[in-house]
Amino acid sequence: MSTTVPTASFLPNGRVITSEDTGYDSARAVWNGMIDQRPAVIARCTDAEDVAAALAYARTQSLPVSVRGGGHNVSGTAVREGSLVVDLSPMRSVEVDAGRRRVRAAGGAILGDVDRASQAHGLATPFGVYSQTGVAGLTLGGGLGWLRRAYGASCDNLVAADLVTASGERVRASETENPELLWGLRGGGGGLGVVTSFEFRAYPVGPDVTLALVFHPWKDAADALRNYREWNESASDDVSSFAVVWHAPAIDDIPVEYHHQPVVTYAAVHSGDPAEARADLAPLRDFGTPIADLSDVTSYVEVQKLFDEDYPAHVMRYYWTSVYLTGLDDEAIDTLRELNEACPSHHSTLDIWQLGGAFARVGADETAFGDRSAPYLLGVEANWEDAADDEANIAWARKVRQAMERFSTGAEYLNFPGFYESGERTLRTTFGGNYDRLAALRKAYDPTGLFDSAAHIPA
Ligand SMILES: Cc1cc2nc3c(=O)[nH]c(=O)nc-3n(C[C@H](O)[C@H](O)[C@H](O)COP(=O)(O)OP(=O)(O)OC[C@H]3O[C@@H](n4cnc5c(N)ncnc54)[C@H](O)[C@@H]3O)c2cc1C
Repeated sequence: MSTTVPTASFLPNGRVITSEDTGYDSARAVWNGMIDQRPAVIARCTDAEDVAAALAYARTQSLPVSVRGGGHNVSGTAVREGSLVVDLSPMRSVEVDAGRRRVRAAGGAILGDVDRASQAHGLATPFGVYSQTGVAGLTLGGGLGWLRRAYGASCDNLVAADLVTASGERVRASETENPELLWGLRGGGGGLGVVTSFEFRAYPVGPDVTLALVFHPWKDAADALRNYREWNESASDDVSSFAVVWHAPAIDDIPVEYHHQPVVTYAAVHSGDPAEARADLAPLRDFGTPIADLSDVTSYVEVQKLFDEDYPAHVMRYYWTSVYLTGLDDEAIDTLRELNEACPSHHSTLDIWQLGGAFARVGADETAFGDRSAPYLLGVEANWEDAADDEANIAWARKVRQAMERFSTGAEYLNFPGFYESGERTLRTTFGGNYDRLAALRKAYDPTGLFDSAAHIPA
């Protein structure tokens, strides 16, 4: 492999950044402050022409390619050591066709860009719950957020995409052009080319939605989780929610004696009629004696930013993994309580994502994403501040994963992938019957493995 530092820009319009440039350290930083990788060269692209030129340069120099959308993947796949980074961060334009209810987002757009532009027309596409996340990585890995039970995952609403493939060819994927490629982009994890533009379906949402945000004391944790399980059995598809097992944040709305103490929180968003929302969310709001109830009717754009302050970029350290749960029986609840009590950081969370609804009505082979039959996804978020605590926090998250395996399908949500250390075994379990079809697509679109990452099925 050559790691020759380029002496002249190989991009027609964008900017080439190497370790000799002053901007190199900020250009290689991603959201997770733990990631400290040194790419060979960063190609900051402004359009598809730049992307094609960057890939051509990588091929001539035999450099592996990383692709950076929003830079949020916890494992740092966007800026791999020694790679050429196709950095799409300048490409954040969004166009809304309100009449057709279609939204087009450039390959480096973040969720907040699309939410703001779509809501100006009363529309929204299902994305994640944190406004700084990249549309690209989120969609290619699935995309779960507050509208998942009403309208499905982000990848289910992807109707077309423009790509530059490993060979430099520009292709479009849609139901009529390269439909097999579109199938693979819907949750297949990427590695099929650099997506320069995504086109999504959008739906009338808001401007206001109903938020339930209720904190329960630790003494009621088991009952609160049982209540959540019972409510979920007949919950409306207009609601998407989590039960979060964690430690209370030190905020004014929570009595000081509970700060950093273990709690269970219900967080739910109802995107339908506000009068129905009150009734649909009542079992979450009427249960027990909460420490705090911060429920509100508020704008969809604000709800999309609800957790933004909890996840500062570059400074905190993060290791996130996941398992799909086959249920939430009393033994699983007790195990989660014990694991929360053993957690070394008050920033960490065990997020029980309610699935079902429109998300679950998509067949396992309709998109590359795979099986959707699990009623819950457990997101295991280890979040901490000091490098000295890396080992303890990563060990805790891995212990959670291991302890919860017996309540799980064995599959993992690949947008919360740890460091992809469970390798091909997990990719096979997660993609299930879609694995071989995805592997064939990888071979067809990236035969030499230019996009070489642990996140992808091997080419
Ligand atoms: C704070 C936070 C909150 C999150 N919340 C949610 C959530 O609510 N729901 C959810 O589902 N997920 C969530 N995630 C996970 C998120 O979906 C993944 O981390 C995702 O990979 C982020 O996408 P990105 O474009 O920002 O990442 P990047 O790190 O930029 O990219 C990740 C990978 O995607 C591929 N890629 C990126 N851009 C392109 C492109 N244009 N063309 C081809 N391949 C590309 C590359 O392989 C790259 O390595 C969250 C993550 C964070 C950090």
